[in-house]
Amino acid sequence: MKGPQKVGEAPAPRERILSALSPHFIRSRIGKLCVAIIGSTPAEMMEKAVEAVRENTFIEFRLDYLANPLTALPKIKQLLGERSEVTAIATCRRVATGGKFKGTIAAELEILEKAATAGFHLVDVELQTAEALKQGQLDKLRAHGAALIISYHDFTTTKDLDGIFERILPYEPEFVKIVSTAKTLADNVTMMRFLERTRDMANLIGICMGDQGIISRVLGLRAGSIFTFAAAHPGEETGPGQISVRTLRETYRIDQVDAATRVYGVAGNPIKHSLSPLMMNTAFRRETVNAVFLALQATKLNDLLTLVREVPVNGLAITMPLKEEILQHLEKTDPLSEKVGACNTVVRSQDGKLYGFNTDVAAIVRPLERRLPLKDAKILVLGAGGAARAAVFGLKDKGAEVFILNRTPETAQKLARQAKAKTFRRDQLAKTNFDVIINATPAGMHGVKPASILDAKEINARLVFDLVYNPIDTPLIRMAREKGIPVVTGVEMFVHQGARQFEIWTGKPAPEDDMLRVVVHALRQQAEAAKQATKPESGH
Ligand code: NAP
Repeated sequence: MKGPQKVGEAPAPRERILSALSPHFIRSRIGKLCVAIIGSTPAEMMEKAVEAVRENTFIEFRLDYLANPLTALPKIKQLLGERSEVTAIATCRRVATGGKFKGTIAAELEILEKAATAGFHLVDVELQTAEALKQGQLDKLRAHGAALIISYHDFTTTKDLDGIFERILPYEPEFVKIVSTAKTLADNVTMMRFLERTRDMANLIGICMGDQGIISRVLGLRAGSIFTFAAAHPGEETGPGQISVRTLRETYRIDQVDAATRVYGVAGNPIKHSLSPLMMNTAFRRETVNAVFLALQATKLNDLLTLVREVPVNGLAITMPLKEEILQHLEKTDPLSEKVGACNTVVRSQDGKLYGFNTDVAAIVRPLERRLPLKDAKILVLGAGGAARAAVFGLKDKGAEVFILNRTPETAQKLARQAKAKTFRRDQLAKTNFDVIINATPAGMHGVKPASILDAKEINARLVFDLVYNPIDTPLIRMAREKGIPVVTGVEMFVHQGARQFEIWTGKPAPEDDMLRVVVHALRQQAEAAKQATKPESGH
């Protein structure tokens, strides 16, 4: 009967264990990151592998991405022979278990066996495959000296990790790999607790896939995962949510994450494209702060709060749509957050209490203060949402005369009443001069209509400040420049609010120039990529 080989039941277990590379030996060779290599042809796969081994000595060959995996083995054998420092995993996951290999279990096994003879150090066998094999078939793989990873992938949830572990253990693999899907931030906590509980019982690899699984990819190692997987390049991910090796090394500094690393993050929804992790991790690295900053996709505030409590998370940048809702969970806020009714910065004290600050206000007020006196300045704020509230309360606080113009007049009236500001009608715009016009609406952002909130003839000011920062040069900014009006871009606000957050969390001055540099560079790269994507084909 098919079924798991119970401990001790398998034939000649001693020989079997001796024939496989010892996990201690393998652990002494590998780093924390295994780079997954894909390719649709053997030549492409080898090209990527040769590039990857220049900087990485631990590689997974996803043989299942090839139409005929066996054809790649001679070249891989040659590479492994020439580069003896490289440790390699052979994976040929079938379609039924989430891979790309369309062959049978017998064909998968044949490929893995030949991979083992070609010099692969580890072979990855899915639990479902192992469970379908006859007794002793797995030993054939080990007979060629490869260590065995038994892996399990759940592409929908994170549940029953202990049950899966129990199913894997009887095969006595050298490594146990359990990969689930995070549907909540708290699923990462479930994975990390599992790793902590079982790390002494086996050599474990534990990861949550998905956009919400990033925490497990960065913090899983300190919970007990022996290594984690990375994509060779963006766009070459072998699992949802996988991060590129460069980003894991350089942005998240995964090699330095340890038990003392403080954890911070930006929480909101959507959050995948936020530039805050790049900016804040750059600042932590530059100032040698042992901290890491993650993008936390939070669809429910309670989920976020569970994560903050359990990891624990030391501080949060809060963004849309949570800036108001978070207030009721804070022990105390600064007076401005209270007035504005929104908080974008949270600090968790040692006793677990949460304190709120609003650095958006300073990030709007200070760039303006640097350029003109705000007392009695006549300022028009376009919009009446969260950012507009920060602008209106902050500027009133500095003695400015503030006018509000919003698409929905009732919201403008309400804000004007609360902040003792005035509302403004659009038909008065062309004949009115302001010291500053501030755009606090998303108009001008990539993909948002209308592209410009104002017509050129309506821009009559000494200074224009567009809070939108992607793109850097919004249509409003461009129109103002064309009229010879000085501008402040949203990037300045973005970096400023982040810099103040850094100071609140670390007590150190923020490396603002470096933060600005990486954000501007990333935005320019994005703009260039968008331009390339819309370029018509040349036809050649
Ligand atoms: P919000 O709370 O959703 O408020 C959006 C405001 O813009 C509302 O008053 C809304 O008017 C108005 N609006 C939305 N779409 C519009 C359109 N197509 N045309 C005209 N008005 C429109 O958003 P928020 O948090 O205040 O953020 C607003 C923008 O500020 C963001 O999109 C972002 O670009 C920018 N921002 C930048 C930074 C930074 O660091 N640089 C920080 C925060 C925000 P209704 O009342 O009629 O809906």
